[in-house]
Amino acid sequence: MTETRLPAHPHAMTPEAALEALASRPGGLDAAEAARRHAEHGANRLPEPPKRSPILRFLSHFHNVLIYVLIASALVTAALQHWVDTGIILAVVVVNAVIGYIQEGRAEQAMDAIRGMLAPRSSVLRDGRRISLDAAELVPGDVVLIEAGDRVPADLRLIEARGLSAEEAILTGESVPVDKGTAPAAEDAALGDRSSMLFSGTLVAAGAGRGVVAATGAETQIGRISGMLGRVETLTTPLVAQMDRFARWLTVFILIGAASLLVYGYFVGHLPFGELFMAVVGLSVAAIPEGLPAVLTITLAVGVQAMARRNAIVRRLPAIETLGSVSVICSDKTGTLTRNEMMAATLAAAEDVYSVGGDGYAPEGAVRWRDADAHPDAHAVLAEFARAAGLCNDATLHAHESGWRVEGDPMEGALMALAGKITGEGGDPLRQWTRTDVIPFDSAHRYMATLHHDHEGRACIHVKGAPEAVLALCADQRAAHGGSEPLDAERWHQRVEELAAEGQRVIAVAARSVPQEHTVLNTSDVEGRLTLIGLIGLIDPPRAEAIEAVADCHAAGIRVKMITGDHAATARAIAGRIGLRNRDRVLTGADLEAMDDAALAEAAVQTDIFARTSPAHKLRLVTALQARGLTVAMTGDGVNDAPALKRADAGVAMGLKGSAAAKEAAELVLADDNFASIAAAVREGRTVYDNIKKVISWTLPTNGGEAMTIVLALALGMALPITPVQILWTNMITAVTLGIALAFEPTEARTMRRPPRPRDEPLLTGALIWHIMLVSTLFLAGIYGIFVYALDKGYSLALAQTMALNTLVVLKIFHLFFIRNIHGTSLTWAAVRGTRIVWICIAAVTVAQFAITYVPPLQALFGTEGVPLLDGVLIIAIGAVFFGLIETEKQMRLAVRATDRPATGAG
Ligand code: ADP
Ligand code: MG
Repeated sequence: MTETRLPAHPHAMTPEAALEALASRPGGLDAAEAARRHAEHGANRLPEPPKRSPILRFLSHFHNVLIYVLIASALVTAALQHWVDTGIILAVVVVNAVIGYIQEGRAEQAMDAIRGMLAPRSSVLRDGRRISLDAAELVPGDVVLIEAGDRVPADLRLIEARGLSAEEAILTGESVPVDKGTAPAAEDAALGDRSSMLFSGTLVAAGAGRGVVAATGAETQIGRISGMLGRVETLTTPLVAQMDRFARWLTVFILIGAASLLVYGYFVGHLPFGELFMAVVGLSVAAIPEGLPAVLTITLAVGVQAMARRNAIVRRLPAIETLGSVSVICSDKTGTLTRNEMMAATLAAAEDVYSVGGDGYAPEGAVRWRDADAHPDAHAVLAEFARAAGLCNDATLHAHESGWRVEGDPMEGALMALAGKITGEGGDPLRQWTRTDVIPFDSAHRYMATLHHDHEGRACIHVKGAPEAVLALCADQRAAHGGSEPLDAERWHQRVEELAAEGQRVIAVAARSVPQEHTVLNTSDVEGRLTLIGLIGLIDPPRAEAIEAVADCHAAGIRVKMITGDHAATARAIAGRIGLRNRDRVLTGADLEAMDDAALAEAAVQTDIFARTSPAHKLRLVTALQARGLTVAMTGDGVNDAPALKRADAGVAMGLKGSAAAKEAAELVLADDNFASIAAAVREGRTVYDNIKKVISWTLPTNGGEAMTIVLALALGMALPITPVQILWTNMITAVTLGIALAFEPTEARTMRRPPRPRDEPLLTGALIWHIMLVSTLFLAGIYGIFVYALDKGYSLALAQTMALNTLVVLKIFHLFFIRNIHGTSLTWAAVRGTRIVWICIAAVTVAQFAITYVPPLQALFGTEGVPLLDGVLIIAIGAVFFGLIETEKQMRLAVRATDRPATGAG
């Protein structure tokens, strides 16, 4: 095979010439040729933006106010020739940078992994069959099918276009969609005027079509504009950014305080400068929560990973926080609450009703009439059902070892299987017909129409869609023995109600013959001129996990609302099986339209089932619910859902059946389209928020206690209970261990039993400030208590300081166990057992403490002495008493809260 050279001006060629230039055919390449071209042209991927070098990234962690302070202190201590201090300060600096570097790496890995999960897929013709594959697999010459909402996967020369327009802002800066067609453009046309091309990375705004790939990867227009996609999402959320700013101002505040103390101690207190300086450095290090931003970042990264494991892919990090406060979830029905594994079960013609047997999407099974197999020869209407179901259809069926699978819409797959069952021709029935034109399905008009021709000169239009929509297009109905009779609309509506009440999704099919010359399909060709063939009832069982997840959401004080394009009776029947509340009340799109905004706001809150809605209604509903102060999660899949997804507090797009437009508008993408994944994401969102709170609640009082220890000693003019070097040491050790452990905390037991957190609840609540004060004070009491006790006993200052230091660490550990359960008791076996990370951290801290207390060289460095066994027990006992105190205080608060706020905060 020869090398494929890419044509320089595909836009100026005719579609046929472009196909020829790319050595392709309208039916696409064959697999072998595609593989060869893939080897030649490489993957259809844009070159990765250059990454910052590891050294630069490492160095960036030194760019931090605290590090500057520490380096300056190291210089001063070196000038004072306090070499030990200098060494330890520099060690702190390096360790800090190393932790920051490792954490950043982890966080980036987490983001990279989910980016991989969102790899775009596209529909391609290979060997004449439609398949879906990773867009990276595309090669020049491939024939790609695109429709509204898709991101164009490569540069395409259109060979077919229906009502196609594309939004090319990323290439041309022009945000108004431009119309596309197959007619050649001028050779020297500017990018924006090449109307016969779709460019990689642009968005299909409307219509459908197919095109031959003219360039892939770096050879596409977007690939040539390098540097454009080098945008990296930073790992932050409003809350973390807020904490970051808080930490920075706190740092400034502490530095000013420390400097004043230095001036005061030197000029007023007349303390020796060297000692005073070290005390002030110790104070700054103790008080500044330098590790906080990094630990919060890792908490987010852990949350992102946990959500990804539960099939919820976070596209925008702030969503993690929002998800935790969601108070209402508006969900699609089909595919989200139901399995989207459809099967045609009932056919209703004018006279007769048939039941359909079979299994899954296999195009095998009998159609039965009055307890006997019905033959198409005896029941002519069945052949018409088969034609409408099989021709007005974009799906294809493929046999796999594990059974039959659908490529395309599951409902259409079920209809294709139905056509196969009736005709007995397997997965690809009705081959004698060729499609000449189509009006694609749109959830606003709710039907799809096709025009087909066959070799015998026949031409006909087939329509399928929501019964009301199709009935409105019909003039008459197919009579039992051929011919047509007047349409009995009322009787049909009654039948729709009957089927829908069983939870079946009901589709009406209709047809009309047209002269052979008719090759273009317009809406005027279907309006009021069709003959109704009958109704098709499809079953789509609810997802078992969704039933459980809905119950979980209700227990968590979250309202679940179903917003569907389906029929009201079907919606109600499914809602019943899923366990939604307020089943007697269903509002339809038409009802919503009749309401003004005030009435709508009321209705939106009161009603849980919305049927026959179009995407525009979703937007109104989100807005109405938000106006009532609710935090709304809204699902969507189509291109028209994008505005509602953007508007929602947490827009949720379907990963499998969703369009690129919906995914890009969403904060969260469900890899499995499953409602249960939304509930899981909410749970993880609450966990992350709790963990952020835990990290802060552990860090700030620890710092407060340490800092106050030094300030108090300086103020009282007494010896420091813990020396500055010792403070630097414990800070460094606990920052790498205990500080990080909380980022990995699992979900607390009753997390999904609590009402949602108010959207604007501040992080530094009164309760947290109280906790900081209480714990700092208790730390102070514990440290001074043991220090004074040791001096009283006649121990040396060094031993008293060693005991105070160990008390501090023991208090930190007990505090950690306390913080692990902020919403429940810490006195359960599960709470004590902790997590592996917690115990690894505690083991590490313990080893470090024993080393600094008992190993002679370290004793010499840090000025410590071995603590007698009994005093060691006393130190642990202080920790236990501290734990008992704060735990009792928490139980008192929880008891009060439980009486003033009942747990079911619904509504
Ligand atoms: P849902 O909320 O169930 O996903 P949709 O907006 O997708 O609702 O569909 C609304 C109605 O439009 C369906 O109940 C069905 O009657 C009809 N419909 C859905 N998909 C198609 C299709 N591909 N072709 C024709 N009609 C369709
Ligand atoms: Mg749908």
